[in-house]
Amino acid sequence: MSTSPHHPPVPFGSTVSCRICGAIPAAHVVVRGHRGLVITLRFLTEEGAFCRTCGTAVYRKLTSDTLWRGWWGLLSVFATPVTMLMNIGARSRIRALPHPVGHPRPPLSPGRRVLARPPALVVMAALVLALAMVTVPRLIPDAQPTFTVGDCVRNNATWPDQDLEEVGCSSPEAEFWISDGDRCWGMDWLLHLEYSADQKALCAHPMSK
Ligand SMILES: [Zn+2]
Repeated sequence: MSTSPHHPPVPFGSTVSCRICGAIPAAHVVVRGHRGLVITLRFLTEEGAFCRTCGTAVYRKLTSDTLWRGWWGLLSVFATPVTMLMNIGARSRIRALPHPVGHPRPPLSPGRRVLARPPALVVMAALVLALAMVTVPRLIPDAQPTFTVGDCVRNNATWPDQDLEEVGCSSPEAEFWISDGDRCWGMDWLLHLEYSADQKALCAHPMSK
C-alpha cells in the first residue's frame, strides 16, 4: 500500500485501529531504536498500527532512548544517526494522522518533545562543546612567530635560549638578520626549527652596527 504522508492511509471507519489504545485512525509504522553495548549493539523496533497520540509517544521514547544509549560503541556512532534518519518516515506518517477518536483503552502519554528531553540536551551540549574545541583554537592567533630569510629579529632571551621577536631591520632594536641555514658560520646562531616559516633551517646573523 503506497500512501502520501499528507493523506493518512487509513480512513475513518477502517478496521485498523491503534494497537495500544484501539483508537482510529491508525497507521502501520516501524519505529526504530538503537542501543550501543560497547562491543555489541542492539536494534529495537516497535512495529504496528499506532494512532497519532500513541505513535508520537513511541517515536519520542525510542528516539530519546537512542540519543541516550545509542552511542556507546564503535559501530553505534554510525548506527545511531542512521536509526534517527530511518525514523523520519515513520514520524511524518504519524504526524499526518488526524487526532484519534474513540479509544477503548488509555493511550500512551506523548510526553515532551524529543528536543526538550535531557538526552537531546546532553547531545546538543556535547556537539556545541566539540564544535567549540575545533574552532576556538583557530581563532586564537598563533603565538609562535615564524621568520623567513631577510627578516630582522631580536632575542629577548640569552643565547643559546631563543625567544625571538621580529623587529624592523632599520630599527635600533634589530640584533640579527635571518639568513639561510646552510650559510651559518662564525658568530651565527642556528634558529630552532619552529621559527622557520617553511621548516627550512635558518640562521641568525649578527647585524653590523
Ligand atoms: Zn493509540
